[in-house]
Amino acid sequence: MGHNFSYWEKESFLTGFDVIIIGSGIVGLSAALHLKTKSPALRICILEADFLPSGASTKNAGFACFGSISEALDEINSGGEDNFLQLVEMRWKGLLKLRRNLGDASISFKQYGGYEIFKESEETFAQDCIEEIDHLNKLIQPIVGKHDIYAVSNAKIAEFGFSGITQLIENRYEGQIDTGKMMSSLIAKVAGIGVQIFNSCRVDSVENEGVRHTVKTNHGDFDAKSVIIATNAFAKELLPELDVVPGRGQVLVTAPIDNLKVKGAFHYNRGYTYFRNIDNRILLGGFRNLNYDVEQTSEPGVTDVIQTALENLLRDTILPGQNPMIEHRWSGVMGFGPELSPVVKEIRAGLYCAVRCSGMGISMGSLLGEQVGELVAL
Ligand SMILES: Cc1cc2nc3c(=O)[nH]c(=O)nc-3n(C[C@H](O)[C@H](O)[C@H](O)COP(=O)(O)OP(=O)(O)OC[C@H]3O[C@@H](n4cnc5c(N)ncnc54)[C@H](O)[C@@H]3O)c2cc1C
Repeated sequence: MGHNFSYWEKESFLTGFDVIIIGSGIVGLSAALHLKTKSPALRICILEADFLPSGASTKNAGFACFGSISEALDEINSGGEDNFLQLVEMRWKGLLKLRRNLGDASISFKQYGGYEIFKESEETFAQDCIEEIDHLNKLIQPIVGKHDIYAVSNAKIAEFGFSGITQLIENRYEGQIDTGKMMSSLIAKVAGIGVQIFNSCRVDSVENEGVRHTVKTNHGDFDAKSVIIATNAFAKELLPELDVVPGRGQVLVTAPIDNLKVKGAFHYNRGYTYFRNIDNRILLGGFRNLNYDVEQTSEPGVTDVIQTALENLLRDTILPGQNPMIEHRWSGVMGFGPELSPVVKEIRAGLYCAVRCSGMGISMGSLLGEQVGELVAL
């Protein structure tokens, strides 16, 4: 038995779209927002495989950041200064766009600052980073418009109550958002301007039929002139030729903590590990580098190796002597590639993609959505 769609359902829900977007993460939603705002008459729908978006956009840490010092140095070493600056610009402009699109109150944006922490055993590494502060401030100044972006801020180590941390580098222009509020506002905004969002609708393939595309799903075939693939870590399932590999990120959140001193977005371990305050709790994630091969998966799950490393950091360094309860654990999946830059392009006439946000898609996602929207020939 095929699907039992009525004439009305086919005409109003399945066919005649100008644009179909696959994936309702921040990138897919931002592409829809941009296109529909620019051309309100367009018929646009988003097809999302899961009940809620199930990649990274509802699972992340909510850092509104553009890179710690050690990440910046690693990025310069691997891709050169020009590439690094392009990434910083995408993150910075993406964040400004996200804040403009939704408003700071809707996403609970707080500019508490970002900090990179260094343990006593990492003194040489810390000094290497500290030596580069002036150079990086000069490099990034034209993008951010401030000259004092990074600074040593060791006086705050005691204020935050850390143990075993001997160096702290502050980035006063980083912030944090409430990821859940951001995604629910973005979904409401996009739906409110007339974009149809179909959940639990998994796309199996996109086929080209003349100037139109047939998008085959578990609920039948949809039809559109243009298709945008915004499935990030899952991109290879629909576009095997793309160089995107999944990388799982694990997170935990504590129970509420009385008189929590930690306030800000903290980076550790060359950006692999991160923590922040949220609702009087600590959110802590990362250590993917401890088990690289196992974490190169799009399967959800948490593992003992990584959760134990997170808990040790929490108990020994972040909240020493407090033995906090852990109330939540989850994983999300990011899309990585041989370089850190995302892939935003036309694959063939009328088929586009915006994928591979690495670990910074909350920062750059709104911009990538706009960029891929601009590519679409209307
Ligand atoms: C644990 C963790 C912490 C992070 N922390 C931060 C942070 O603090 N700051 C930051 O900037 N970034 C962070 N990131 C990265 C950021 O969340 C991602 O880069 C960003 O959300 C990617 O958005 P996206 O829209 O490209 O993809 P996703 O949000 O992954 O969306 C892709 C969507 O496509 C759907 N999909 C997949 N296949 C199909 C299909 N066949 N048919 C239909 N739908 C499909 C998926 O269900 C998914 O909802 C973090 C990521 C993780 C996992």
